[in-house]
Amino acid sequence: MTNVPTRPDPVVTSDTQFFWEGVEQGKLLAQQCQECKAFRHPPRAMCPGCNSLQWDAVPLSGKGEVYSWLLPRHPLVPDFESPLIVALIDLEEGIRLLSNVIGISPDDLDNGQAVEVCYAPTKGGKAVPVFKPVARGAQS
Ligand code: ZN
Repeated sequence: MTNVPTRPDPVVTSDTQFFWEGVEQGKLLAQQCQECKAFRHPPRAMCPGCNSLQWDAVPLSGKGEVYSWLLPRHPLVPDFESPLIVALIDLEEGIRLLSNVIGISPDDLDNGQAVEVCYAPTKGGKAVPVFKPVARGAQS
């Protein structure tokens, strides 16, 4: 086991630039529509609910629960730790993120597991949001 990060750096686009700038400051941000106040993720130019192009980047609590997850078995995903838990995370704000869960054995992970965001370093000195288990109702 090495401590040198091997994860690939995030791919930043004009739509996702605010998200990754937030991550660099330790913040998990999402777009919130200025018209109907709906959160949306992944980032995109237009609100799927009301077609507004006006939005704010709003900090999220980083808390949520595992909606579903899987373990890629073959082929293994290069440059990621193994076992790699790939999970859909339902955040408190009502949006769903595709991410990884760390700090728990796949044998112990169930859907509905309470999780909170943390940040995994990448090989280029960046970071990506991942999630770790928390006891339900625990204060952090
Ligand atoms: Zn809207």
